[in-house]
Amino acid sequence: MHDTDPPRRQIYVCLGCAAQYLPPASMTYPLLGIDASPVHCGMPACASTVTASMRSIHVPQETVAKWAQRAAGVQGPVRRGRPGRIVRGRRSNPSPTTGRNKLQ
Ligand SMILES: [Zn+2]
Repeated sequence: MHDTDPPRRQIYVCLGCAAQYLPPASMTYPLLGIDASPVHCGMPACASTVTASMRSIHVPQETVAKWAQRAAGVQGPVRRGRPGRIVRGRRSNPSPTTGRNKLQ
């Protein structure tokens, strides 16, 4: 589905300063003659810091960018199951036969 969509501008989150930024869909700044990065904003300090970090973690930039977007809520609300079915029920309802509680 996403492959056929026309290029859309994405909001990215800088891993250096946590700023949210909106590079052009082409991911280049023609006037500046530089490429936009999915993991850091245009500040030189962020560029060098984040580039160095990326070298050490060996994870593709796109993946890290998605993590940062998700953490910042840029891709919409964090998905944690359906509304109304909060995680609460998962652990509080064990089978009676499992029998592991503090009284035993
Ligand atoms: Zn930054």
